[in-house]
Amino acid sequence: KNMASAQAVIPDDFEMPTEAFDIPRSYTGDLSAVVIPEGMIKDRVRRLAHDIHSSIGSQPLALLCVLKGSYKFFTALVDELTSARFDCPHPMTVDFIRCRSYEDTQSTGSVEIIGLSNLTELEGKNVLVVDDIVDTGRTLSRLLHKLKESGVKKCWTALLVSKRVPRTIDVTEDFVAFQIPDKFIVGYGLDYNQRFRDLRHICVMSNSGIEKYKN
Ligand code: 5GP
Repeated sequence: KNMASAQAVIPDDFEMPTEAFDIPRSYTGDLSAVVIPEGMIKDRVRRLAHDIHSSIGSQPLALLCVLKGSYKFFTALVDELTSARFDCPHPMTVDFIRCRSYEDTQSTGSVEIIGLSNLTELEGKNVLVVDDIVDTGRTLSRLLHKLKESGVKKCWTALLVSKRVPRTIDVTEDFVAFQIPDKFIVGYGLDYNQRFRDLRHICVMSNSGIEKYKN
């Protein structure tokens, strides 16, 4: 494991009442608790950007946003990295992709990359992959494999949350903002069937919310 920086660990029982926060009224019954308030995310992302900069150093850097879930994390991280790299003579670039995982009967599924017409655009570059969440590690591990095949020079991962679950696949988690318990979370870009992405805070779904928006 290439653990480049410390993680902020959210304990199993760390939950705050939704009534204590500015949750849109249309969402209140759908959520059972707030687990990471927006302010805490902002503070953590600022420190993460400094950790990334001191670890990677002054090299040219291509930031790769894995949509849709990481859109808020990505913009926050880009802003903080811009400040952290103020004295850096090399520019930062941004790219956006979406990943669609396919499961087959074997554990070796594949991932379809949507967005960048050709991942070889990243050939020879230092790439920081910015993703929202690692659960089993499958999606990220397939993406990293594809990037390696495309000939990227160096590759790091920055993750908003990493779930405290036994990993079926060992995946490189270089910069993790939060380690969270094994709960289904939404908000700060993360969705449940395309809803809740606009929620400011990272929250846990209630059972009635899960039922209500089931596909
Ligand atoms: P993995 O491939 O690591 O098992 O899962 C990664 C993907 O599953 C994420 O990119 C995300 O789309 C989805 N996912 C896993 N856990 C959660 C969760 O708690 N909340 C949300 N909204 N999506 C999740």
